[in-house]
Amino acid sequence: MSGYFSDLYHGTKSLLVGLGVTFREMVKPTVTVHYPRETLTITPNYRGHIELVCDEKTGGSLCITCGMCARACPSACISIQSEKPEGSKKKILTGFVLDFTRCSLCGICVESCPTDAIAYSQEYNLAGFSREEFHMDLLDRLGKGGSLT
Ligand code: SF4
Ligand code: SF4
Repeated sequence: MSGYFSDLYHGTKSLLVGLGVTFREMVKPTVTVHYPRETLTITPNYRGHIELVCDEKTGGSLCITCGMCARACPSACISIQSEKPEGSKKKILTGFVLDFTRCSLCGICVESCPTDAIAYSQEYNLAGFSREEFHMDLLDRLGKGGSLT
């Protein structure tokens, strides 16, 4: 019989201690957010995938198609297409594709660009069903507002 009362005592005590912890935590300020309904502001130093920077004067890219970023990339993530319009001395950018599946976010491409035409995005919400979804046409994204100014 004494074992019964002892178990009852310890069980009740354990329950009350547990409830005390629960109520104490309930009234503390919340330190988490309800992702994805709520999101935090990303630090400016965050390195998302690279993005083309928008030239505020022209609305186009600052890229001069020198190819230095593609040559510098250790993972061969970047492929650039360009063409020289007839009568023009300069090439124009016609394609800029990033294979983000291979990118290590090392930043060498950003550092090697002489015109600051590429920068890290603040994108952290990437998800997809295939590797191809992460082959990003950055020039196309620039036209659709996926750019940095
Ligand atoms: S961040 Fe590094 S790995 Fe990614 S595209 Fe640039 S150079 Fe290549
Ligand atoms: S290094 Fe800069 S300017 Fe040269 S191709 Fe890459 S993004 Fe364009």
